Amino acid sequence: MAATVGEVLGFLNEIAPPQWALPNDPVGLQIGEPSQTVERVLVALDPDPRTAAQAQYRQCQLLVAHHPLIYRPLSHIRFDDPVGKAVQALCEAKIALIAVHTNWDVAPSGINDALAEVVGLTEVRPFGAGPKQQHYKVAVFTPTEHTDAVIDAMANAGAGVIGLYRRCAFYTAGTGTYEPMEGANPYLGQVGKREHAEETRIEMLVPAERLNAVIEAMVRAHPYEEVAYDVYPLHTRAEHSLGRIGRLPKPMLASELRDYLAEKLRNPYVRTYGKPSKLIRTLAVVGGSGGDYLPDAQRAYADALLTGEVRHHHTWEAWARDVVLLEGGHAETETPGMQRLTERLRAFLQPRGVEVFFAGDEA
Ligand SMILES: [Zn+2]
Repeated sequence: MAATVGEVLGFLNEIAPPQWALPNDPVGLQIGEPSQTVERVLVALDPDPRTAAQAQYRQCQLLVAHHPLIYRPLSHIRFDDPVGKAVQALCEAKIALIAVHTNWDVAPSGINDALAEVVGLTEVRPFGAGPKQQHYKVAVFTPTEHTDAVIDAMANAGAGVIGLYRRCAFYTAGTGTYEPMEGANPYLGQVGKREHAEETRIEMLVPAERLNAVIEAMVRAHPYEEVAYDVYPLHTRAEHSLGRIGRLPKPMLASELRDYLAEKLRNPYVRTYGKPSKLIRTLAVVGGSGGDYLPDAQRAYADALLTGEVRHHHTWEAWARDVVLLEGGHAETETPGMQRLTERLRAFLQPRGVEVFFAGDEA
């Protein structure tokens, strides 16, 4: 028993749809092909040469990493360069690579939910801007009996995701009318005769980067020779909030919170910026590099913001905004979410005889 890379990718796309990723975040299959067989999977934070070696040592056929390996357009793959070396190692060992990055940050039970849980927050809710995307509304006219098939095809290509709901569509019944001209090969009706057909108008929301794929899938699933459809650009709208905010088990001073987080994150080097004597009740969390979420944390009435790593200007901004900033370590704030992903993959793959390892665990 085994699975394929494509099946694992399909599962990941369900729990962390790629359209939830921030713009220009190259999530998904970075190396390999969907038809490849998978018997062992390694989950890791970074697809670096060390992880590639571990995947090879454990005889894995698939590496699922948080950070993409191929990020900016690569101008070369040199084996004496760290990125090129990791690409070389994975290709030579025929190990496929899937990245689940900001789409896993925002996902339910993903990076930031796991971080909120690890630090003991309750009444957790989303905060802060999420991926902002240009969206389109696609309206298509189809024979009534093809309504579900066309909705399915569009949904499978990425249309109709609203919050935590997929396959969202609206349709109305009506009558379409047309007259086929010489040379036409109509699905319904005859050349030179006016036709009236029972049709539905289907409307679905489509993110910009899925528009071409959705139109292609829609036309393929549609029975008409000429498909009538409209594409309307919509105002840019924020999708999911990336961060999480909640209440600490008990109020504590910023200085006490530092020690508390150091223990929860197993990182003695947690640093604080801002007033040490401030009493913290409400904590906002963003795993990884989340210093830019300070204004959002302030707007959400957070007393403090925990993130992985900050830049220098965030340190004085924390004082200026009176939001205590805690730097918990990039890896330390993202590891809980990757452990959670390992468990999800195990639950999906173990019944099929596929082993799933986490790079943090001892070999
Ligand atoms: Zn990260």
